[in-house]
Amino acid sequence: MIANRGEIALRIIRTCKKLRVKTVGVYSDPDIELRHVVEADEAVHIGPGEPSKSYLNIPSILEAANESNVDAVHPGYGFLAENPDLARACEESGLIFVGPPSRILGRVANKLESKRVVSEAGIPVIPGSRKEVSSLEDAEGEARRIGFPILVKAVFGGGGRGLRIIRSLRELKGGLERAGAEAKTGFGRSDLYLEKYLDKPRHIEVQVIAGRRGKVLHLGERECSLQRRYQKILEETPSPVLKNLERKRLVGLALKVAQVTRYENAGTMEFIRSDDGKFYYLETNKRIQVEHLITEMVTDVDIVEEQLRIASGDGLSLSQDEIEFSGSAINCRINAEDPSNRFAPTPGRVSRFVSPGGPGVRVDTALFDGCPVPEYYDSLVAKVACVARTREDAIRRMRIALAETVVEGVPTTIPLHQMLIENRLFVGGEYHTQLLDGLLKDWQPPSVITSEEAAAVYAVVRNRIAIPSIAVPPGLARKSDWRSSFQERSNLRPALYVEGI
Ligand code: ADP
Ligand code: ADP
Ligand code: MG
Repeated sequence: MIANRGEIALRIIRTCKKLRVKTVGVYSDPDIELRHVVEADEAVHIGPGEPSKSYLNIPSILEAANESNVDAVHPGYGFLAENPDLARACEESGLIFVGPPSRILGRVANKLESKRVVSEAGIPVIPGSRKEVSSLEDAEGEARRIGFPILVKAVFGGGGRGLRIIRSLRELKGGLERAGAEAKTGFGRSDLYLEKYLDKPRHIEVQVIAGRRGKVLHLGERECSLQRRYQKILEETPSPVLKNLERKRLVGLALKVAQVTRYENAGTMEFIRSDDGKFYYLETNKRIQVEHLITEMVTDVDIVEEQLRIASGDGLSLSQDEIEFSGSAINCRINAEDPSNRFAPTPGRVSRFVSPGGPGVRVDTALFDGCPVPEYYDSLVAKVACVARTREDAIRRMRIALAETVVEGVPTTIPLHQMLIENRLFVGGEYHTQLLDGLLKDWQPPSVITSEEAAAVYAVVRNRIAIPSIAVPPGLARKSDWRSSFQERSNLRPALYVEGI
């Protein structure tokens, strides 16, 4: 049973099909039409749209598992993926939980605690407080000791929530209140701690697969420094900044984290690399990650398959020296968010979806023409990833893939990615986690028109100036593209016909 929805549920079902493992999908009321419901061998209704009543509702999930007589539960990412209570409930009722055992989830959930364990093993961690903030006075004392700027973090946080930068003592009280409230709503607990805020670092993480008997492999790193408000937007592998020796050191640190935390199953060790090249351990993500696909594209390892093999007791299918790294891969997270309205989520219905394709392109999505985007869930609707022998070619493929992708009916972050992959600093590989928020301060997304509108405009243009060789490409949804392709083909000044649209 896959206790999740959308693209990741579909992704997991695909591997199960390959392994001839029967699948049960689950769905909430608004999700009844989704592709994971159709593609699973069976599907069980688990409640209304609100996550707390369906995908986050452990009794509902367990009932569905028992009712359909499954052997194992894969939690995907988000929702209950790292919740030790679901893992424990599975263990107690004889179900296999596809992920680390509850004792590991429980131990590593507390970020402060895992920082302590890792630091005691000699792995560098970002300087910060060693215990939860207990009062404002306590926080002030710690802040003075650490030195500003400071990042307030939720002890049980995740997904970029519950984080606040504090630049002076004056901001501390308000920052603690806001971060605490966000953590309380997001994770049910408001415990906070403080950390030194590093200037312009990079986020580089290592994909690890750990068997049950202590065998630990790595599948290389992923560079995830392009973030908006601490949330990843675009990821790539290998990191454009790492030289071989540095990569070896990073991977060694990640394997050591896996070892000292006695980690099991697939996991990601996240690190921050400061601008002077030092690595600091950030946290362990104890699940399959959103961006796992780029690692699969350069290693040809099916991470979900390895997760299932470990959980079922079969053990890993390969050893470290069988893993070969080839090429460069990039992933763009396409979110249903409006770039021209401060990235507000845009639930609704997708009237038309056209997937990109061609050599080296992988699209993980559950979108289809007419599919709903319910208001209740994460805004990620598609991942468009490209692989090529060189990073330059992967970027070129991405440029084409993004231009081919059509999502109509709900605004998406495609224009943001189109801007990013043309950015000089991105192309040069010289970026850091604070770049994107800076770029967004003076970025105006291009206005969006539908393909019907584009066709209508074209009809007008054709009647006025006959250029029969020009056709509006079917996937043309953005005015800027329309203008440039028109321009290329006709050598006419675009102002002639685009004005006033
Ligand atoms: P990844 O590196 O896998 O992309 P993210 O931090 O972006 O990790 O999280 C992936 C998904 O899981 C997002 O939908 C995010 O909102 C959700 N998520 C991550 N951590 C938590 C958590 N502790 N509690 C609830 N949701 C989480
Ligand atoms: P989450 O559990 O929400 O993913 P993380 O601790 O992994 O939280 O941090 C999320 C992001 O915030 C990181 O990827 C990084 O960009 C930024 N970040 C975290 N800690 C620091 C820090 N001490 N200094 C600067 N940036 C940080
Ligand atoms: Mg993180």
